[in-house]
Amino acid sequence: MQKLLYSLFAIVLLFSCKTVKDVSLPIATPTDQDLTEETVDVSTIKGHIYYLASDEMAGRNTPSPELNIAARYLATSMMRYGVKPVPGLEEYFQPVPMKKITPPQSGTISFAAEQMDYKKDFILLKGADIDTEAEVLFLNRGTAEDFAGTDVTGKIVVVIAGYEGQDNPQQWFFSGDEKQKLAKEKGATALIELYSSVQLPWNFLTGYFTRPQTVVDDSKGEAFPYIWLNAANPDAIAKLKAGNGLKAQLKVEGITEEVLKTYNVVGMVEGTDPVLKNEYIIYSAHYDHVGIGRADAKGDTIYNGARDNAVGSVTVLSAAENLAKYPTKRSAIFIFFTGEEKGLLGSAYYADNPAIPLDKVVYCFNSDNGGYNDTSRATIIGLTRTGAQPLIEKACMAFGLDAAEDAAPEEGLFDRSDNVNFAKKGVPAPTFSLGFTAFDDEINKYYHQPGDEPATLDYAYLTKFFKAYVYSCRLIGNTNTSVFWNEGDKYYDAGKGLYGEMKE
Ligand SMILES: [Zn+2]
Repeated sequence: MQKLLYSLFAIVLLFSCKTVKDVSLPIATPTDQDLTEETVDVSTIKGHIYYLASDEMAGRNTPSPELNIAARYLATSMMRYGVKPVPGLEEYFQPVPMKKITPPQSGTISFAAEQMDYKKDFILLKGADIDTEAEVLFLNRGTAEDFAGTDVTGKIVVVIAGYEGQDNPQQWFFSGDEKQKLAKEKGATALIELYSSVQLPWNFLTGYFTRPQTVVDDSKGEAFPYIWLNAANPDAIAKLKAGNGLKAQLKVEGITEEVLKTYNVVGMVEGTDPVLKNEYIIYSAHYDHVGIGRADAKGDTIYNGARDNAVGSVTVLSAAENLAKYPTKRSAIFIFFTGEEKGLLGSAYYADNPAIPLDKVVYCFNSDNGGYNDTSRATIIGLTRTGAQPLIEKACMAFGLDAAEDAAPEEGLFDRSDNVNFAKKGVPAPTFSLGFTAFDDEINKYYHQPGDEPATLDYAYLTKFFKAYVYSCRLIGNTNTSVFWNEGDKYYDAGKGLYGEMKE
């Protein structure tokens, strides 16, 4: 409708100017909303989603041949729209080095007539095959103070998992990272943490950590052994703690590694303003999903990932199509991430290896979707945390949607998607999502289920949703106001650090 009206208007203008030379009609400049209407349409949206979330894509697992076909589709779509590759990358692809590690076949820790077995008594969180004997040294909680002034060279350092006062094993992963770093830097042979938690029982841990893992291949050959030992056997633990001078034999074998080929897909459009074009905005979404898995009640085994995250991929494609045709003042970078479902791998890799330096990127507008249960809104996770809030609200309202902040903060969604890898570096980075009021049955019916298929989506709603996203992109790309973090935000200081004085 809008499109036709415009062409008619243009013809009338042209006609008037040619025939009535002395009457100069003002040529109406289309607004960003008008330009949004020019490109976003339901057939294009549907075509993309039906392709990306088709059964033939086999759930776009990382890695899989189908994931790479999806990558090619995203790249050639950008090519068709006139989006350019980013200088320095080959075509539209950023290879993301990953590897798939299968767990050990077996392992033992032996000391003072005790033997602990892999899985039953301990799990290997990180490391390669090892066969070594070394002295045991108990270092309490393994804080920096515990390590200071202690010679741990060549020793197996034993500590209690977590720091004092931390009861949640989720936190232990972070403290574990710090302890590993200390142990490794000081020349220890291995780090063993004594594990005991009622929240996450041992059999849950072994179920999870003895499955193959896909990780970014950044190890550069060194794999420091990091172990959780079940503290359920008090005699054995007492001996380890008493430890000085005690030698332990540590043996783990049968780990295999497979190098994987997957890609982030990246394109760009240069801005129109001679100054502002040096500022970039990232529009991003992950395009992988979880592949083929357990059958549902209907016997369907393909996890299509229409909502998660064909929809997100198509928000970015819609922005790419629109901004290639009608660039904004700022430059645009479009990124489709691999490996999100394996632990935000593609975005972590990009944030560490950006194609354009991150201090030139003023905003990252990500899209990720679990599902929706409210078609009167778009949910923006992090809406109220950056200066772009009024722009996003205006864009949503223009297409009949309320812009709503995350309705399920207890889910920790802000820190569970690709946007967080940019937020941590300081780049303001909310996530645009389908509307939801709670993580309820309506969401869970499709969330990471084989039934998350293209035919179950409401395309009238999606059309509004995509228009709201693209219009937001246009407003952010053209704005003269700051879209920086709000003062006091968790990532505000990281932002100040990234941009230095620029953002004062
Ligand atoms: Zn997702």
